[in-house]
Amino acid sequence: MACIFCQIISGDLSSDILYQDERVIAIRDINPQAPTHLLIMPKVHIASLADVTDEQGALLARLVYVVNLLAKREGIAEKGYRLVTNCGPDAGQAVPHLHFHLLGGRALGGLG
Ligand code: 5GP
Ligand code: ZN
Repeated sequence: MACIFCQIISGDLSSDILYQDERVIAIRDINPQAPTHLLIMPKVHIASLADVTDEQGALLARLVYVVNLLAKREGIAEKGYRLVTNCGPDAGQAVPHLHFHLLGGRALGGLG
């Protein structure tokens, strides 16, 4: 299995797991770009946002639920945070397993 996030999900690779349920897992990014930088992803392998189907609406809603849960847990819900997903080469997607970056804990500035 080549996908690095699938290896983390299966337990073959160790990681700082902050949350998991049947469908979703959240880890701390290994190379944080902000005081809080988490990765929230589905356990099922979906290559990117572009591969999400209409039938996966409930899964997307669950991901957003976990984002908000962890934002509260991290203490960034009040001041605010940013949710980012990189989709494809122009966005610089490095890991081809759908994941949302949850960034916060400092003023994040514009999107550049
Ligand atoms: P992308 O560029 O695909 O949107 O983001 C991939 C993210 O995964 C990067 O922010 C990178 O630091 C993070 N990352 C890559 N490999 C690992 C890993 O093995 N463990 C963790 N926790 N994060 C990783
Ligand atoms: Zn995967």
